Amino acid sequence: MNMTLERNGCITREELERFNLITSEERFKKGTVAVIECIQEIPCNPCEAACPQGAIRIGSPITSLPKLNEELCTGCGVCIAKCPGLAIFTIDKTYSDTEATVSFPYEYVPLPVKDEIVEAVNREGKVVCKGKVVKVLNPKSYDRTPVVTVAIQKEFADDVRSMKRK
Ligand code: SF4
Ligand code: SF4
Repeated sequence: MNMTLERNGCITREELERFNLITSEERFKKGTVAVIECIQEIPCNPCEAACPQGAIRIGSPITSLPKLNEELCTGCGVCIAKCPGLAIFTIDKTYSDTEATVSFPYEYVPLPVKDEIVEAVNREGKVVCKGKVVKVLNPKSYDRTPVVTVAIQKEFADDVRSMKRK
């Protein structure tokens, strides 16, 4: 297990940079794309199997970190609910001139509803800004891991990763 993560309890932007897990701004300009924030070298690979585009590669050994092929990723979001580590998100920085959307797994009840204004939080669970819920997906195939999408001010897209529990 990564020692820095163990100490802090959450991933930092610096760690993501060090592990080369930052999705490029060039790809963000093309629309919704996955962001994989997984730096724990554990035997786990459902994300690789879940992606219909073959955009996530772990390979061998199974403890390798997942690598995203940004160009193959369509931003469909299927991988979000399949990750037991709740470490995958999708971000759309092209949502509007001023707003981006962030989609994240949310395993709490009650679920938010469309158009609800919520408090968007960062990786540490600290409130960053207000967000507007634009979508809540909870199909059977997601196996009780609903995926919530919130619209937020674009400047917070690299920080917001969830919403405050209701
Ligand atoms: S968002 Fe869709 S296409 Fe992109 S990595 Fe996830 S499952 Fe694959
Ligand atoms: S499924 Fe999630 S926790 Fe497992 S390797 Fe993929 S990103 Fe990491």
